[in-house]
Amino acid sequence: MCASSSKDPIAEFIQALRRGEDPSIEEFVHCYPQWDLDQLRGEIEGAWVLFWGGTVPHVSDERLQEALAVLREARDRIALKRGLQSKLEQIPTTGALTVGELTRWLTERIGLALKPVGSVPEPHPIQVRFRGKTRERKDSAKHAYGILRSSQVKTAAEDLLSRGLIAEPPIDLSSVSDIASVVVEEKPLVDCEGCTFQFEEGTVIYINSKIENEMRRRFTWAHELGHAVLHPKQPQWMDTYAMIQKSWSRRERTQEVEANRFAAELLMPFSMLEADKFPQSEPHFETIANAADRYKVSLTAAAIRFVEITDAAASLYYVEEDRIVWAVRSNFFELPWRKGTIHPTSGLKWVRAEREYYEEVPLEAWTSVATAETAVETGRKIGERQWIVLIVRE
Ligand SMILES: [Zn+2]
Repeated sequence: MCASSSKDPIAEFIQALRRGEDPSIEEFVHCYPQWDLDQLRGEIEGAWVLFWGGTVPHVSDERLQEALAVLREARDRIALKRGLQSKLEQIPTTGALTVGELTRWLTERIGLALKPVGSVPEPHPIQVRFRGKTRERKDSAKHAYGILRSSQVKTAAEDLLSRGLIAEPPIDLSSVSDIASVVVEEKPLVDCEGCTFQFEEGTVIYINSKIENEMRRRFTWAHELGHAVLHPKQPQWMDTYAMIQKSWSRRERTQEVEANRFAAELLMPFSMLEADKFPQSEPHFETIANAADRYKVSLTAAAIRFVEITDAAASLYYVEEDRIVWAVRSNFFELPWRKGTIHPTSGLKWVRAEREYYEEVPLEAWTSVATAETAVETGRKIGERQWIVLIVRE
C-alpha cells in the first residue's frame, strides 16, 4: 500500500477501492508519517471534491473524520460486494433462467434474503383545489409509490452523474453502477428484459444477455438502476420489454414511468443536451438520430427526450398497428392528443412507410380538438408493426 512516490495518495487510495482492492486505512495513514494533519486535510479535501462532488471550503477535524468514515464505508461496501459477487458465481451459467428460477437460486440455494433497503424518497405533498381553496393532501400508503416529482427523479440521476464525475456522453453505466453500489450481472433470462433484487449485502441487477441491441440493453440497465435508486422499499423488480416500452405516459404516474424517466435523465442528461443545443435543433428525425448515436440510446428514447425539451410545438406518438399506444408532447404543443385508432387523414394511415415519410396533414388528425391548422407529420418505422410519429405545429 505504501506507494510513497504517489503525488496524490488519497486519490490513489480511492482508485484502489474502485478497482476492488481492499487497502487498509490505518496502513494508509501510517504510510505518510511525514505529513502533518493539515496536509492530510488538504489531500482529503482534494479527494472529497474529486470523488464525491461538492465544494469543501475548509476541512475541519469533523470533516476529516467524516471523510475517513466515507472511505471506511466505501471499503466495507466493497467487502460486501465481493462477498455478494462470490455467491452469485454459484448460479449456473448455462441455459436461460426464468425469473422464478433465478429468484429461487438467489434466495433458497444461495441464501440471500430479499429485503427493503434504504428509504423511499419522501412522497411530495399533492396540491388539491377544493371549493376554491388550495390544500395539501397528506399522502396515504396507497400514494407511497408513483408520485415522485419529475424534479426528484432528475435530481437523483444528476446526483449519481456528479458523484461519478461523468460529464460526457455516452454515459458509462458501469461507473454509474459502481457509484450507486449496485452489482450488475448479465445472464440469459426467459421472458424478462431485466430485473433488480435488493439484499442485505447489496443490490443486484440482472440484464438479459440475449438482448442484442446495445441501445436497448443500456436503456434496460438504466431503467433497473432507476428502480434501485428510486424504489428501495420493494425488494424485487421484474421487467419485460413491453413493460419498459409502454411506460411513457406521465399521466400513468407509475413506478415504471418513474424508472423510465430516471433512465432518460441518466442517459441523456439535460445539461449535456443543452450544451449540444439539442432543445434548439430542428424538429426532425435526422437531428434526433444524431443525438441517439452520440448518447447511445434508441431513436425512440432520443425522440421522447427531444419532445420533452424542444423549443418547438411538437408531439410524439407511438403507434402499433393502427393504434396510438402512448404520446408525449412539448410544453408548446398545448393541444390534447387523439387517442385510440389513428385518423384517416393522418399521413401514416395511407403512407404506411417502410422507412421515413414527411406529410403536411390537418392537425386534427392527431389532436382531439377541432382546428383548421395544419401540421408537419414525419414518421419512422421502428419495428415490424410499430412507428413513431412526430407532429410539429406550424
Ligand atoms: Zn421496471
